[in-house]
Amino acid sequence: MNVQMEYVAPDGFVFERAQNVMHGRYGSIEFLIVPMLTENQFQIQLYADGENSSGKSQFLEYLQTLQQRHSFVAYAGHNGRELISVYVASREQEDKENLTLVISELSRKCEEYGLHNCCASCGKVRSVSRMTVDRVPALLCHDCEMQLSSGRAEKKENVLLGIIGAVAGVLLGSVLWVFLGQIGFIAGIAGYVIVFGGMKGYELLGKKLSKGGIVICVLLSFLMIAGAEFVSLAITIYKEMGSLFVSSIWDAFSWIPELMKETELAMGVAKDLVVGYILAIWASYSLIKYSWRQAGEKQRPHTIERF
Ligand SMILES: [Zn+2]
Repeated sequence: MNVQMEYVAPDGFVFERAQNVMHGRYGSIEFLIVPMLTENQFQIQLYADGENSSGKSQFLEYLQTLQQRHSFVAYAGHNGRELISVYVASREQEDKENLTLVISELSRKCEEYGLHNCCASCGKVRSVSRMTVDRVPALLCHDCEMQLSSGRAEKKENVLLGIIGAVAGVLLGSVLWVFLGQIGFIAGIAGYVIVFGGMKGYELLGKKLSKGGIVICVLLSFLMIAGAEFVSLAITIYKEMGSLFVSSIWDAFSWIPELMKETELAMGVAKDLVVGYILAIWASYSLIKYSWRQAGEKQRPHTIERF
């Protein structure tokens, strides 16, 4: 592309050489235009959101006609979120006229369908400023600018879903505990799987594993280890006593309090649990420590530069 950006910019638009971006306002809408030298195109960026979704869908329908109506429009579409892009092929002398034409049309259609500038990060319709985020130009609201530059966590934790995920995770780990118990192992390694499953489940559904989430997972795991031990015991009772005394696995549970009065069995269960807990803590210690440190760490701050 062999053009002087100053001559290409629509009237009232400014070219920022350092950031390689043009910006300006047409009507009530603010636009960014990024020259893409290698493609010989300009990308017109419009961060906009409709007050109502029908306005936005009508606007997107209009976008599709752009390409058919103007031969210099290489592509028009949106990224599924806030960014609407129109790529205009460079025709040197005609560039200013073509860019102005597209921008004036876009601005008019925004007004017609009730679209307003919105923040590139949170999508909220509020006052936005021009800046580069790690050298990429965008329009951002004040809150998002603060958040990105300070590196505060971007993901929001959902505690309820996190707990549901953790319960599912520890249940999966418990199956291994019961299985290993049945073949005669003290299942310390399964204790690790229970803790791991809980934390992964929490992170998966809750979106983010915070320190509070880790505490919940560890407590759940400890409860579940005891639960798994008793399920294992009930299965053993069912197998040992046979169907004459115990009609089902569920029936076997009701025998547990009675049998626990026998010191030998109670001692056996206690020993299993103590050794199981120690092994589980030993195996999970570094995982918990690592996750704890991760949860405390801030997201890396982005480089924000206003222009
Ligand atoms: Zn924002």
